[in-house]
Amino acid sequence: MLPSCRESIKTAVLLVPKFARFDRCVHTVRLKPNYTSVNYNVSRGGFAHLQKQHLYFFRDLLGEHRMISDTIELEKYNVDWFNNLRGCSSLVLKPKTTQEVSQILSFCNQENLAVSPQAGNTSVVGGSVPVFDEIILSTELMNKIISIDDTSGVVVCQAGCVLENLDTAVAEKGLMVPLDLGAKGSCQIGGNVSTNAGGLRLFRYGNMHGNVLGLEAVTADGNIIECLGTLKKDNTGYHLKHLFIGSEGTLGIITKVAIQCTTRPTCQNVAFLGAQNFRKVLKTFKLAKQDLGEILSAIEVMDSATMEFIGEKLNINSPIGDYPFYLLLETSGSNTNHDSEKIFKFLEIALNSHFILNGTVAVEHAKINALWSVRERIPEGFNLCGHLFCYDVSLPVENYFILVDEMKIHMGSLADRVFGFGHLGDGNLHLQIETKEFSQQIKDHLEPYIFKRTAQFGGSISAEHGMGFLKAKYLNLARPPSTVNFMKDIKQMFDPKGILNPYKVFP
Ligand SMILES: Cc1cc2nc3c(=O)[nH]c(=O)nc-3n(C[C@H](O)[C@H](O)[C@H](O)COP(=O)(O)OP(=O)(O)OC[C@H]3O[C@@H](n4cnc5c(N)ncnc54)[C@H](O)[C@@H]3O)c2cc1C
Repeated sequence: MLPSCRESIKTAVLLVPKFARFDRCVHTVRLKPNYTSVNYNVSRGGFAHLQKQHLYFFRDLLGEHRMISDTIELEKYNVDWFNNLRGCSSLVLKPKTTQEVSQILSFCNQENLAVSPQAGNTSVVGGSVPVFDEIILSTELMNKIISIDDTSGVVVCQAGCVLENLDTAVAEKGLMVPLDLGAKGSCQIGGNVSTNAGGLRLFRYGNMHGNVLGLEAVTADGNIIECLGTLKKDNTGYHLKHLFIGSEGTLGIITKVAIQCTTRPTCQNVAFLGAQNFRKVLKTFKLAKQDLGEILSAIEVMDSATMEFIGEKLNINSPIGDYPFYLLLETSGSNTNHDSEKIFKFLEIALNSHFILNGTVAVEHAKINALWSVRERIPEGFNLCGHLFCYDVSLPVENYFILVDEMKIHMGSLADRVFGFGHLGDGNLHLQIETKEFSQQIKDHLEPYIFKRTAQFGGSISAEHGMGFLKAKYLNLARPPSTVNFMKDIKQMFDPKGILNPYKVFP
């Protein structure tokens, strides 16, 4: 007999270990990866090479302390978060103002120097690191919060604000940035907007297209495009901001952003549940939407292989024992009694209907964090593998897990482990294939197979990470030729010489 929901909740909460919160993306010490251009056999575009006179220009503009040319210091800007890709840029520039960005780009455009925009460098698709010797334009010093309006909930800030810092600042005014992701301690708002980042609460609050009210950006020739409106309604002509959202640094550099924050919830509950199979996961999902309604703010899923993975790599264990599937559900609201009543009632029905086999609920901050960290710390294990092939796809929920099962069969003994987890609420699956080491043969076995199958299941080959460098060659699988050509026309208009983030997004 199952313990009653409340009993199992109490006991299980006690079993939750006190995990360190995953605030910062940690680069573990590993061998340097090979140069991307060598590994991926790419040819350099016909851009100019950096000369002394270029350096003099940048030095006069920024001063030496806002330029990096030291080989060791350059390394962290040249290598991606996964330690898989490596460019060979010899210069990082750190502007502080829009005017400086404008002058840098105007000069680079005139001199035909390629530029790789970089924010927190947490891109999962190699969007933020150079492929060759592109100049890295880092926004890390553009980190000023310009205004917070606690009545309208609008925050205006520079693009280099770290997401978590911004959220902490708006929290003082009772607000919350409607975006939350595991990389929040490192990623910057400009990077988030440029990738149209999704994250853990997209299910409730929507994506950046919905939450960015306005932005300011600089195009390749240094032209400043001012669309920094803070109004919710403004139908005066084309909504140019949407072109920059998700454009991954290929159309311009975003310098300022106006975001519609939401009122910070005053009470939260997090439930961690175990289920027998994916069919039951879907039943629980449907029930949660029905019974929790407006207070449901996140719904995540992971399979038992993911739990094994974090157990092995990070010594994290399931807080509720072993089950084939786990669900993490979050509610956020403003009335503790009302929300608790709703979640406990939902759990009782889910248990009695045998949709879930066990569960635990956390209502206190520390315990909520502990449960969330089981999910949020998964990527910390990625750098502890021989090699991990990571895919970020979205699928209609009924087909959500088919791809994981299919990949297990498709990979056979080529993979050490195939596992899946993700943002179930948005149909966003993170499918991971762990192998002993990188091998082109394995990659060829995976791609384009995985993308073709995703398309056949009615999905998208990039749910929230973008195309970057790694997926660029598959753009034609995702969009018909006429659409790709139209995208190229837009790129040509914004950046005729193609100096902005070359080798990214387009095949
Ligand atoms: C542990 C971990 C968890 C993650 N979880 C999620 C998640 O849940 N959801 C999600 O969507 N992503 C997730 N990601 C991926 C990543 O964090 C996001 O894509 C994030 O939005 C990137 O922000 P960044 O500041 O690191 O940008 P970067 O990685 O530096 O850059 C990303 C892209 O944007 C461009 N860019 C950066 N700044 C600008 C600018 N100011 N103007 C124009 N272009 C610019 C870059 O050239 C690059 O193409 C995760 C990554 C990690 C490492």
